[in-house]
Amino acid sequence: MALNKKSVDDINVKGLRVLCRCDFNVPLKNGVITDENRLVAALPTIKKLISDGGKVILCSHLGKVKTEEDKASKTLAPVAVRLSELLGQEVKFVQDPEVVGANVRAAVEQMKDGEVILLENTRWRIGEETKNGEAFSKDLASICDVFVNDAFGTAHRAHCSNVGVAGLVDTAVVGYLMEKEIQFLGNAVENPVRPFVAILGGAKVADKLNVISNLLEKCDTLIIGGGMAYTFLKAKGYEIGKSLVDDEKIEYCKEMMAKAESLGKKLLLPVDSVMINDFPNPIDDPTIETFVRDADAMDADKEGCDIGPKTIELYADAVKTAKTVVWNGPMGVFENPVLAAGTKAVAAALAETDATTIIGGGDSAAAVNILGYGPKMSHISTGGGASLEYLEGKELPGVVAANDK
Ligand code: AMP
Repeated sequence: MALNKKSVDDINVKGLRVLCRCDFNVPLKNGVITDENRLVAALPTIKKLISDGGKVILCSHLGKVKTEEDKASKTLAPVAVRLSELLGQEVKFVQDPEVVGANVRAAVEQMKDGEVILLENTRWRIGEETKNGEAFSKDLASICDVFVNDAFGTAHRAHCSNVGVAGLVDTAVVGYLMEKEIQFLGNAVENPVRPFVAILGGAKVADKLNVISNLLEKCDTLIIGGGMAYTFLKAKGYEIGKSLVDDEKIEYCKEMMAKAESLGKKLLLPVDSVMINDFPNPIDDPTIETFVRDADAMDADKEGCDIGPKTIELYADAVKTAKTVVWNGPMGVFENPVLAAGTKAVAAALAETDATTIIGGGDSAAAVNILGYGPKMSHISTGGGASLEYLEGKELPGVVAANDK
């Protein structure tokens, strides 16, 4: 699906100050980046801006900054170091308490064409995430001639550094990553090669209400796993024991089952479940005892935490014949090795099929990468929340804010 927005290919940035909003929200452990996929995914746009002779000013958020103390651990300094290595040229980190202040203005003034600087975590600045953040949007706009938004992971949010600033500059375009994400997700939803199988998992039905309804209209088969499956199983009248449930959504689940039936779509639910006595603490405790139960024979005193072996077979079969597969959300409490079989099996089934396979970010992306299946997928989204909202059929404010073609 072609995106009707101007991109970095439609502009000439030679000699211009280009503010490029990336998604460098990477996991950090003691200051060390533990998953650099988002950095790697941002490189094509950054390289293009460098080779076209722009003065490249990068910015991104990193995690949540609620207190002054949070700032110490939520700094982009390690990202500047790693990006310099990945690009093979210096990415100068310019820290300012207000993100854009005297230090940044002086550094931008001195930039030569093709040089790169990185600003501090945009969430250091109060107002970044609020609607009254005009001051920050204005500051960002004041240091650039052109704005490029390549942060798909935050495209579903309207913040100063992706939407506010875009409204204050004449030229606001999207980058290659944004284009690629929308192309894969857009094609899957609007123009899928069929059969189109969508797989949803994770903890809460409520989070995925709209996506379930929208995907039912678009796909041929909708597979439900993870904690959210138990609300569906309860809606079918089954005992689900202590499994995760959203009692307020039982009626909704019934509606979705009826909707699938009336549309002639397959809605696959677990036919068996891996149960445990108590939720593991710590979550990755490998010593917990498990019990496999058919979906209509679950114990009242146990909790379902993964799909069972018969369900794995059922789901893997559905994936085998698919031509397009979209997957969002783990099939069980995959953080625990004993409860990860369902998630692993789905990842393996996707790795084996010839279908176009799209992983909708978040936990499923992490699972696929940890298992080493990353290279076998057609596309792994860098944005869990953004891809879900896109699959719901919502417009993404970060994309809307760019100039039309
Ligand atoms: P979400 O953020 O909605 O995609 O949910 C991801 C989380 O769902 C992961 O942390 C999983 O451990 C959790 N999860 C998956 N299946 C279950 C389950 N059956 N019971 C409880 N939590 C689950």
